[in-house]
Amino acid sequence: MSDFRDLVADAAARVADYRERVDSLPVFPQDTDIRGALGDLPEKPTPAADVIRRLAGAVEPALVATTGPRYFGFVTGGALDAATAADILTTGWDQSAFNHTTAPAAAVVEDVAGEWLKDVLGLPSTASFGFVTGGQGANTVGLAAARHHMLAKAGWDVERRGLNGAPALRVVASEERHATIDRSLRLLGLGTDAVEPVRADAQGAIDVADLERVLDGPAIVCLQAGNVNSGAFDNFAAAIALAHEHGAWVHVDGAFGLWAAANPASSPLVAGVETADSWAADGHKWLNVPYDSGYAFCAHPESHAAAMSFTAAYLTGHGDGDLRAPSDFVPESSRRARGFATWAALSQLGRTGIAELIERCCALARRFADQLGEVEGITVVNDVVLNQVLVGFGDETDRVVEAVQRSGECWMGATTWHGQRLMRISVSGWNTTEADVDRSVAAISASWKAVRERRRG
Ligand SMILES: *Cc1c(COP(=O)(O)O)cnc(C)c1O
Repeated sequence: MSDFRDLVADAAARVADYRERVDSLPVFPQDTDIRGALGDLPEKPTPAADVIRRLAGAVEPALVATTGPRYFGFVTGGALDAATAADILTTGWDQSAFNHTTAPAAAVVEDVAGEWLKDVLGLPSTASFGFVTGGQGANTVGLAAARHHMLAKAGWDVERRGLNGAPALRVVASEERHATIDRSLRLLGLGTDAVEPVRADAQGAIDVADLERVLDGPAIVCLQAGNVNSGAFDNFAAAIALAHEHGAWVHVDGAFGLWAAANPASSPLVAGVETADSWAADGHKWLNVPYDSGYAFCAHPESHAAAMSFTAAYLTGHGDGDLRAPSDFVPESSRRARGFATWAALSQLGRTGIAELIERCCALARRFADQLGEVEGITVVNDVVLNQVLVGFGDETDRVVEAVQRSGECWMGATTWHGQRLMRISVSGWNTTEADVDRSVAAISASWKAVRERRRG
């Protein structure tokens, strides 16, 4: 056996060992001296096997068990078996998914996976798509297409002339938009002051009457599928119809919430979303693809390509002849072949498996809410319409969250929503079971009890 074969087999075995043990590890690591274990920059070459031994030795004790069944932070899921293995292959194959010349296999797999994604998410089959880094990347691409489209309608070629001297662009977005929308606007030169905020209702969905008040004429309207705190959905049918009456472009940030469309029981939450102009969704959240996986979709392929195309922005490039060039729809040139892991995740689950994943996570979120709501002094403050549960512990929330995190039993973060400090539970992992929820509820209840007793004591 070659050294390389041994090395890769060793790495694969480490991955398998880690995944087999992850359920029994503390979900958040104890303090370890990662820096010390990494050592100094070596003067001379080091055998690859020693490098990997050192890296794994330093890092493994400090890993967060995001692939385990009791990680409930940040709406990120774990990573499915097939998607993980496909991502390992992606690294080994080392293809640059620029276009059909650099990597024909990567280009075709992205084509196929992109079509499947539109199908599963209920988006128009004519929409264009780009495989990007995540929700942030997808929001940036969607808003760049919007910027191009709206300014072109006003007679201004933003790709060539930039924003200096351009007609003003209005951006209308909910006061509860995700922070990545603001960063995208910064990157695109529109700036955060461009946002005209619209009120949100008690659950964090956009107030359509207030949207009507704010809208007067062309604008970029940002809507949201899945409020990052409450999981609430904007009323797409009403809001999009209204925005289109004003000649607006509608971008939907659906990083995790767009997946509601893939499950018949939750798809009414996104009714009408397919009439928007651009959409952002994540692979590395609810689809349980390893990190570095997001999708930008656009109902106006010409505007999408005009904003992103590599060769020249004003030549709406569509690759070699009839072939779609992946790089015309993303902001990068040389790039990881992201389609392989997504294709593997979709293949492993199939249409019914995806629906079951979404349904199971929603049911488990309701289980959290039902059980925690029964405990004296604990309040569930949101309508649990999806996979998000917001839990209050009076003025002890931060202490309880901290105690739960320290227990290592499970992990969830804290948030401030409508002026209240709250525990934020997101159920997004493919491998979370009812028993994991029950065990986590027990850990939360125990922490709550301990914090209360300490306060009284
Ligand atoms: C997570 C999230 C994003 C950002 O996605 P990344 O993949 O972290 O870049 C954007 N919008 C919403 C609603 C999100 O939940």
